[in-house]
Amino acid sequence: MEKDLLIIGGGPGGYVAAIRGAQLGMDVALVEADRIGGTCLNRGCIPTKALYANAQLMDKLAHADSFGIKVDGYQMDMGQVMDRKDSVVDQLVKGTDKVVEDNGVLILRGFASFLSSEAVEVKLHDGTTEVIKAKSVIIATGSVPSSPPVPGNDLPGVIDSDQLLEMRELPKRMVVAGSGVIGMEFASIYNSFGSEVTVISSTLLKRIDKDIVKRLPLILKKRGLKLHDGARAKEIRKTDTGLLMIATNKKGETIEVEADVVLMAVGRRAFVDGLKLEAAGVIFDGNGIPVDNKFQTNVPNIYAIGDVLGGVMLAHVASHHGIACVEGIATGEAPHHGSTVPDCIFIDPQIAYAGLTEEQAVAKGYEIKTGKFNFVANGKALSMGETDGFVKVIADASTLKILGVHIMGPHASDLIHEASLAIDHQMDVHAIGNSIHAHPTLAEALHEAVLNVTDAAIHIS
Ligand code: FAD
Repeated sequence: MEKDLLIIGGGPGGYVAAIRGAQLGMDVALVEADRIGGTCLNRGCIPTKALYANAQLMDKLAHADSFGIKVDGYQMDMGQVMDRKDSVVDQLVKGTDKVVEDNGVLILRGFASFLSSEAVEVKLHDGTTEVIKAKSVIIATGSVPSSPPVPGNDLPGVIDSDQLLEMRELPKRMVVAGSGVIGMEFASIYNSFGSEVTVISSTLLKRIDKDIVKRLPLILKKRGLKLHDGARAKEIRKTDTGLLMIATNKKGETIEVEADVVLMAVGRRAFVDGLKLEAAGVIFDGNGIPVDNKFQTNVPNIYAIGDVLGGVMLAHVASHHGIACVEGIATGEAPHHGSTVPDCIFIDPQIAYAGLTEEQAVAKGYEIKTGKFNFVANGKALSMGETDGFVKVIADASTLKILGVHIMGPHASDLIHEASLAIDHQMDVHAIGNSIHAHPTLAEALHEAVLNVTDAAIHIS
């Protein structure tokens, strides 16, 4: 079989690239070994957000009293929670599958490996083999959980995020090793579900603003989530009553926490197993596949996008790569697209940010001005009973251009995009400040924080 474009991996990088390729008139085949949607739809973004919706509901029920509603005797059925999660995933996978096919992309369901730089062999699930020759090949094989060399990490009950998403019983006690986005999201969700959660964290959410890092542990503590920041997992042992996580804290003291389940959420690795990159001569540097600004690997007709690059592992980044890469193949030009990546953390309260932190801006030589607005002074947040958090804006002191925005609070993940657009288009604070924001909305908190950069916020005394 001959194709213009062959894409290996049908996650948010690969399937989006396939649709864009077909839109641009290419004859496209997409190989997927598992289900369309990849990690994101099947084992990542979507199942976790389905569970997050349950967590939010549990939090609301727990505080129903403060809304004047008496709720007695409610309980969560973990089996049904997981069934709902699965049906959300199934619906989206089916829909995505259809959109890909409706765009004229040929989906090959099987495992791909290179025979040479021009030919790829696909072992199809029906037991047959297909060899495809393509003018261009995009590798979008994603990532898988990595396991740190902690003794005892192979004990039953020590699990990764894929396995936790399949667990149909609620663990009474859970230790989360790792406090990146994935670890913190599960910690927050299972805390809301009623598990006793302890996080062993070497550095809490590395890339976020220092004011959020300062405020977050207090909020988590208030919710009953235990956090050992600056701690390292040393060993996991089996006990008569569960699993014992042994860690050391910043001072070198030993911490011991017993749990029923230990979630290892210590990072992910680019996945190229079985791909036979060597047959095509594509370099893998141990961390990921290196590419240039057109996503081209060291082999000119072979490209790579998404998690397999070993860089920022986010679905929207993978999709953005997919579109930019295919447009680059079509035009021969390096694609020009926005470079600001909004990052969202679905815990309670949500965190979202775009652009630079204060430290990063100063390190880049900017003199900065900041503006802040607390959600407690926002009418919508107050009505919703979700007043924890704030919006913080970092601007260039001389040009007043917005350099970074950091939000902790309700719907932060939806609010961040106005900031992202402003940063991408190098807007100054007046661009948002002079734009009318509807009332009463959470977006007014961003508006006020932006106005606060020039001391023009209205609802700050
Ligand atoms: P993947 O989605 O990993 O897809 C790769 C695909 O390639 C897979 O389907 C795999 O089966 C297939 N494949 C691999 N090798 C072969 C082969 N040889 N032949 C054929 N097929 C092959 N990101 C966000 O932006 N927001 C979130 O809220 C979010 N939450 C997450 C929560 C969790 C628990 C996890 C684990 C991840 C989360 N992510 C989130 C990250 C996001 O899922 C990934 O960044 C994204 O899926 C990467 O897309 P990709 O296309 O590069 O790879």
